Amino acid sequence: MEFPLQRALVSAEPLPSSLRGMFQEEWGIDTYQCYGTADVGTIGFECVRKEGLHLAQGLVVQVCDPVTGEPLTIGDVGEVVVTLLNKVYPLIRFGTGDLSRFLEEPCSCGRWASPRLAGFMGRVGDSVKVRGLFLHGHQVKALAGEFPWVRGLQVVVDREGVRDTLVIRVEGKASPNDLKALKTRAEGLFRLKVDAVETVASGELKGSKSLEDRRKWD
Ligand SMILES: [Zn+2]
Repeated sequence: MEFPLQRALVSAEPLPSSLRGMFQEEWGIDTYQCYGTADVGTIGFECVRKEGLHLAQGLVVQVCDPVTGEPLTIGDVGEVVVTLLNKVYPLIRFGTGDLSRFLEEPCSCGRWASPRLAGFMGRVGDSVKVRGLFLHGHQVKALAGEFPWVRGLQVVVDREGVRDTLVIRVEGKASPNDLKALKTRAEGLFRLKVDAVETVASGELKGSKSLEDRRKWD
């Protein structure tokens, strides 16, 4: 039987080409990506060519140096900065925290006047988006600070199939109940399900990032 849903527009997290391929081949769903934030709404969307994101109208989009805020030359990777000239909810140079770059060549779909972004290329600084929600480095530090027995703590985000995984690696003398309490607190603080809490050997976390994103978006 043919699946009734034939076309889909997805958002909130990157769409790997493997997942898009699965939707197309196994379900017959022609799948498109749209990029936006809660504050701005839609920033960009794919056309039939699915080669980058055409910018939505009524926005000024810049790709800027995340440190200086200066606009970069076309083609360079930087932070997506959006200005929304809306009388009710104006936003001036809103930093999305997302990295991307402008594509130079015009799109073969014929919307030659519409600039395109290359799509999501990572996050500025130490925040990652897990299952559609932001997880910030300061939340990880806050969690570690709440448990006196914690000597070191790292959150590892990875991906199994089409699902983001979240594992806490922790160093310190802890009973099974301590680990359970840490997991419960982490889930409350992050508003995300934690897949596992693992204890690591003393010194193993030295020099490592407190929030590590191991996902690969092909
Ligand atoms: Zn196009």
